[in-house]
Amino acid sequence: MGKNNKANMYVDIVSLHNEVTGSCNICTVRFPDTQKVKFIVDCGLFQEEKYQKQNYYFPFEPNEISFLLVTHNHIDHIGRIPKLYKDGFKGKTYASKITSELMPLALNNTAEILSSNTQKNSNKQKKVLEDSSIPTHLASAMNTPLFEVDDVSKAMENVVGVEFNKAVSVAPHIAVKFIQNGHLLGAASILVTITYKGQDPIYLYFSGDYAKDNIFFDVEEMPKMLKEVPLNVITESTYGTKSRNDIVHVFEDNILESLKHKETLIIPVFSLGRSQEMLLKLKKMQKNGLLSKSIPIYFDGKLAHSYTSFYQNHLDYLKQDEDVQSFLPENLTLVTEYETRQALLPDRNSKIILTTSGMGSYGPAQFYLPYYISRPKCTIHFCGYTTPNTFGSKIKEVGDGEVFELNGIMTTKKAKVLSTNEFSGHGKQEDLLELLEGFNLKSVLINHGEENTKVQFAKTVIDKIKPKGVAILSNKNYIRVGAHGILKSYPVNDLNFNITD
Ligand SMILES: [Zn+2]
Ligand SMILES: [Zn+2]
Repeated sequence: MGKNNKANMYVDIVSLHNEVTGSCNICTVRFPDTQKVKFIVDCGLFQEEKYQKQNYYFPFEPNEISFLLVTHNHIDHIGRIPKLYKDGFKGKTYASKITSELMPLALNNTAEILSSNTQKNSNKQKKVLEDSSIPTHLASAMNTPLFEVDDVSKAMENVVGVEFNKAVSVAPHIAVKFIQNGHLLGAASILVTITYKGQDPIYLYFSGDYAKDNIFFDVEEMPKMLKEVPLNVITESTYGTKSRNDIVHVFEDNILESLKHKETLIIPVFSLGRSQEMLLKLKKMQKNGLLSKSIPIYFDGKLAHSYTSFYQNHLDYLKQDEDVQSFLPENLTLVTEYETRQALLPDRNSKIILTTSGMGSYGPAQFYLPYYISRPKCTIHFCGYTTPNTFGSKIKEVGDGEVFELNGIMTTKKAKVLSTNEFSGHGKQEDLLELLEGFNLKSVLINHGEENTKVQFAKTVIDKIKPKGVAILSNKNYIRVGAHGILKSYPVNDLNFNITD
């Protein structure tokens, strides 16, 4: 087990995308007998228009992948799993038990959206075929949905739900452990342990999207062994440059101000996590007398309703706290019909409308926001990040009272548009550093952040924690790690992500 053996067993890690989208890490383990095992961590969808083409192919052979590990139920981490199976992946998908129960809800919903988008886009076919930057076979594939409900069921047959903190063997010499974290219900960080006779074991810890705690559930304590073993950490860095002090708590005051003026208040929400958190927030405000129970609350979004029922049917997954156990506020109406939605528009009484999607580009928000943006006595309050080019970003950018083009019609922005970052499910810089400090670190590979954030956060890690090695994960270089940390990096030349030595 001396130095000579170090390079006999290693893992080459590369990221499919450089930023916070289409999350997917490709790992190739090379054993001393020269056998190779390839596995991936997450298999996300690119939701941004500019990356749409990338959804249609994998830059590796899906049938060469032995197994897939899933950190949590967000579409940018799971959205291409059905496509992976459709394209020939034969292995198992491992996820936490809760994530394995949530995934069909998310993926069936995605399948529905994809097929309706394909119908809308079929008239773009000619344009797509003329686009010389993509091969013809891909261009024609883009006119059929990426996957359908049937593909989701087929993929889900191969999903194995695993209890937190339980070691599971996933391939010869490779075991994994799912470790709960607070990012989302079911979210896990994953420990991968690679053992081989005569070799020091390699420990890889994939943080996944990470938060220390969650308002809805108690996070199980990390197993003690995780703090002792020599660890190579692959960490997210979404908020790697944001301090806890950068978070401003304005939401409560903003909505009280809006309701004081008898406005209609629209809160775009993400369907899993944020929706339920908003319901709980409003319930607590009713309870402590801040919010009058006479103000009606409408809640619109099919997937958000499904997730809310999931919470209600799995109260044992949630905190045994009285408010959490019955988190629905009073005077709540679930909007499920187009007619109900339509009837809300002429109503000038003060009310709250929670609606998906969180960035305003999908779901019933597409119905409410274009209508209310030109109404006075209305506040639209975002409670999460909106990526560029989404409807949310667009209406945030337009000045108050400014005229702008909305689906071809010139419209005046009369509603107030506000936002807050106080509800984020990502650890801030302090949280990420605290996590890293607790380990016996061999290396830190920085992943899942904007390119500049990754570099800045890497510098902070070097400065504050001083691990042996720090690297930036991207699709430009393979980072090779062994039992004792980073061995080397080398450029990605081969678009199929094949390891050559
Ligand atoms: Zn996430
Ligand atoms: Zn993420």
